[in-house]
Amino acid sequence: IIQVSHLKKSFGPLDVLKDVSFDVNKNDVVAVIGPSGSGKSTMLRSLVYLEQVNGGSIRVQDDDLVRDGVYASPQKIKQITAKMGMVFQHFNLFPHLTVRENLELAPRVVKGEPDEAVRRRSAELLDKVGLAEKADHYPAKLSGGQKQRVAIARALMMNPDILLFDEPTSALDPELTGEVLQVIKQLAREHMTMMVVTHEMGFAREVAGKVMFMDNGEVIEAGTPDQLFEHPQFERTKAFLHRAL
Ligand code: ATP
Ligand code: MG
Repeated sequence: IIQVSHLKKSFGPLDVLKDVSFDVNKNDVVAVIGPSGSGKSTMLRSLVYLEQVNGGSIRVQDDDLVRDGVYASPQKIKQITAKMGMVFQHFNLFPHLTVRENLELAPRVVKGEPDEAVRRRSAELLDKVGLAEKADHYPAKLSGGQKQRVAIARALMMNPDILLFDEPTSALDPELTGEVLQVIKQLAREHMTMMVVTHEMGFAREVAGKVMFMDNGEVIEAGTPDQLFEHPQFERTKAFLHRAL
């Protein structure tokens, strides 16, 4: 569903992505792990055009977002990025909108979907993340775990073909991470295609079908959780796991 090849991104003199290549297949759950500053967020943000890369290709379901460093037209970019939903570490909910309004804004305004269909789907999705009774609350009244579950429901409102998560539990108190991981696990059971940047090694091991280790702007190795956690091939992976586990 996503093919990334030879991706390069620098911020001034700093090479943040150096020749990053990987594929995500339909129904994959890919965990991305690696030290702080290794380029995980930049990689994820590049996929949805929150960062512009300097070279390489990103192909999403047979459409080129960028090919050899050359981007598609703005209209095409919108079309392609609309297939991907993103959930951020800090939720990024609109504080002046209720939970329901947060969910319904994009489908109504961006897609112009009929009110009734949007209302039905927001009710369904809030129920799915266990927050049906919070529909009319404002984000400020919610716990961090509840906010993140709203953010996941909001991403699902656009019916994405793939969901991207950037450290969805890193801003949460430990006792609140479980409820968010449960929602992601449920989506995995429903075969949602997902890429999850995470520091939760237990979660990566349990839920991901594939784990990708990044260090210093490169994908060092990728494989099944068993391959990566039990039989890492590279010293850098071993050293990272030794610190992280
Ligand atoms: P973390 O685990 O801390 O979230 P990360 O793997 O997500 O780290 P990135 O956020 O992708 O790492 O950052 C990679 C490098 O790029 C870091 O050195 C960071 O300081 C730098 N960087 C990221 N965004 C920018 C920016 N907008 N301008 C300049 N440098 C940036
Ligand atoms: Mg990051």
